[in-house]
Amino acid sequence: AKAAGKDRVVSFDERLRADQLHRTRTVDGLRAAIDRADFAVHYQPLVDLRDEQTVSVEALVRWTPSDGPPIPPDQFISVAEDSGLIVPLGAWVLRRACLDAVAWHHRYGVRLSVNVSVRQLREPDFEQVVREALEASGLPAHALTLEITESVLVADGGGQAITHLTALRRIGVKVAVDDFGTGYSSLAYLQHLPIDSIKIDKAFVPVEGPEGAQQVSLIRAIIDLARSLALGTVVEGVETADQARLLHNLGCQLGQGYHFSRPITADAVERLLAADRAL
Ligand code: C2E
Ligand code: CA
Ligand code: CA
Ligand code: CA
Repeated sequence: AKAAGKDRVVSFDERLRADQLHRTRTVDGLRAAIDRADFAVHYQPLVDLRDEQTVSVEALVRWTPSDGPPIPPDQFISVAEDSGLIVPLGAWVLRRACLDAVAWHHRYGVRLSVNVSVRQLREPDFEQVVREALEASGLPAHALTLEITESVLVADGGGQAITHLTALRRIGVKVAVDDFGTGYSSLAYLQHLPIDSIKIDKAFVPVEGPEGAQQVSLIRAIIDLARSLALGTVVEGVETADQARLLHNLGCQLGQGYHFSRPITADAVERLLAADRAL
């Protein structure tokens, strides 16, 4: 791939270099953005599948440069994790989200979920960061759920993550396993690790078609497993009314997905909760 001109084929090497350059730029851009707090937190409802009332919201960060369109997390979270910038960014999201959610909790009993990366859990002061976000906002510990992926628990070198999570659960904070079922890990950890609920990944939500019946068996087995271990169940990526009904019938407690609501701004959450409760 050496030919120049308009039919030029870009070699693997070139693409690697371009990708590296892109990541370096992203790291520099992210660092500056963190200094300016050029981010917004959007919230996606988690609804009770019995009545579709919002019982919790998940904080989802957006990079909002002043000179361009918002950048979704899939385009910068991995760079933030690799560079360590997720530590200050994650702390900012946690503080911002607790400040937003405290009024929703007091008025409507709504809870808050925040995503936490393994890098954050390896910091010696993670527990303190969470306590400070709760204290500064007045959000009670029991209204907060930390969402972590399976890999955090399974590959917890030195046990730092488990130590933090155990201490935080003692003060009432809840822990959910995010993207459950995608980590290809042993299920044995479910029994003895400090967790309260699982969020079943959207890959397991049955879709219409010939594989439908098998998919139903699979997700039913996951829900039954969680229930037998007294873990709460949330299913992600619910996009249709049929899926919502099916998952409720299978015994899943909470649902999240475009069928209920996309992630929305804090102002839109206010309006949604006021309208929900007025029904
Ligand atoms: P996640 O934690 O699994 O969050 C769910 C993602 O699925 C969100 O994407 C959400 O917008 C999307 N989603 C929700 N409902 C549906 C649906 O019905 N169908 C489909 N196809 N997708 C749906 P988003 O907001 O782009 O976030 C992507 C990922 O970025 C999150 O996945 C999470 O891993 C990460 N992330 C977002 N905010 C933070 C943060 O503050 N800290 C950390 N560490 N990670 C974050
Ligand atoms: Ca999540
Ligand atoms: Ca997830
Ligand atoms: Ca995910």
